Amino acid sequence: MGNFKSVYPYTQETIAEYAAHTNEQIEGLLAKGHTTYRQLGQIPLQQRCDWMLKAAALLKEQVTEHATIITREMGKTLKEAKAEVLKCAASAEYYAQNIAAMLQPKPLNSDASKSYALYQPKGIILAIMPWNFPYWQVFRFALPNLLAGNTGLLKHASNVSGCALAIEKLFLQAGFPEGAFQAVLVNSKDIEPIIADDRVQGVTLTGSTPAGMSVAQLAGKYIKKSVLELGGSDPFVVLKDADLEAAAAVAVKARMQNAGQSCIAAKRWIVESTVAEEFTHKVTGILQKMQQGDPFAESTEMGPMARPDLAEGLAKQLQQTIQQGGKLLTGGQYEGCNFAPTLLTNVQAHMTAFEEETFGPLAAIIIAKDEQQAITLANHPTFGLGAALWSKDLEKAARLATQIESGNVYINDMVHSDARLPFGGIKQSGYGRELAAEGTHEFLNIKTVYIK
Ligand code: NAP
Repeated sequence: MGNFKSVYPYTQETIAEYAAHTNEQIEGLLAKGHTTYRQLGQIPLQQRCDWMLKAAALLKEQVTEHATIITREMGKTLKEAKAEVLKCAASAEYYAQNIAAMLQPKPLNSDASKSYALYQPKGIILAIMPWNFPYWQVFRFALPNLLAGNTGLLKHASNVSGCALAIEKLFLQAGFPEGAFQAVLVNSKDIEPIIADDRVQGVTLTGSTPAGMSVAQLAGKYIKKSVLELGGSDPFVVLKDADLEAAAAVAVKARMQNAGQSCIAAKRWIVESTVAEEFTHKVTGILQKMQQGDPFAESTEMGPMARPDLAEGLAKQLQQTIQQGGKLLTGGQYEGCNFAPTLLTNVQAHMTAFEEETFGPLAAIIIAKDEQQAITLANHPTFGLGAALWSKDLEKAARLATQIESGNVYINDMVHSDARLPFGGIKQSGYGRELAAEGTHEFLNIKTVYIK
């Protein structure tokens, strides 16, 4: 069992090292998580909601401290990190105020004198989470589960152990009992015994498609409920009747925020041919003005990528696409983790920047001859996470939305997650849902009660 290293991406300085938990320590975490699960369900829901409201208040009070840990470990700008922490706080408040309705027994019509469904907790839920939104990804799993009475065991990405431990501490400070939310420092290759353990009743993974395949196999092997939130190559479709000024500004934000490292980033800009030139001109102008650099500086709009190997991988995808006929319009250069905002045009369906997920600040313009071809191109053979569609004709946009193969479609906006709306993908972007009532119910025992 190795150690985990946290490295500040902007300078490559090592900021901390953490030892992996031993088998005995992991057994201790499982035992504690299980005992606490037995107790948590007996505690009145209102008490759990009060703890969650306290967690929200603490996040707001300590926003700079938490955001600094995020920026130091994975490089997003401090401004972006603060927004992420505040989104967790607002969502904690939302769940505290709405969970009671989501957990209400559901009356069912049948031949019984009375029948209904109960929503009950099941035990420890293992969460395997990525570094790109190291707080939000964790909170969107933890909020409904802790409120519903499950306990959480977090295996975070190995470059953000500081975030994992800070979140564990926060829930304790908020009043949740020991064992309600615990971080386990464990290598991916050592995850099987944890998934296999009878006290673990489900596993949720947010991460790449290969990681999802591996965890889904283990979940299947041990018959554990699983939710997978995986990669994507979201289309951002701009039809000829779109508000081009707004579409260009939002396309750039949707691709470049978080240095392009978002599952729902607008990775493929599919533009109807009659407006392609004007759209390209507008986005190029915005990209060329983007301030990149020190993530702690107020003026910085885009920080470094999280690791140098990720920048190298993106550079390879860029080179391949250029060799296949893609045309570089701006950017393309990188040093260490700092990758310039990059735009390719003339991208087609057989090219790397179309076929693969590009997880960094690289946008690809694909020109469609008409709206029907735009939808055909939007429907990726492998991925189906989110999609954005821009048109002033809302009736047409709503009709086309039904033809898009993805877990969510945003019309005249960028795809974003919101605690009030179910979130998730289809195809190799995963299965199951997070957020809203649908996400809350994923790891609960939906128990039918029938009274003759
Ligand atoms: P990753 O390499 O798949 O890692 C994600 C998590 O899975 C980490 O905790 C990682 O641990 C763990 N992991 C990796 N391989 C594993 C295995 N074989 N068994 C068990 N655990 C394993 O992904 P990433 O590079 O951190 O994140 C980027 C990916 O996540 C992108 O593809 C992105 O699209 C996707 N993502 C999806 C969503 C969504 O909601 N759909 C949201 C955000 C990100 P280690 O760090 O220890 O390897």
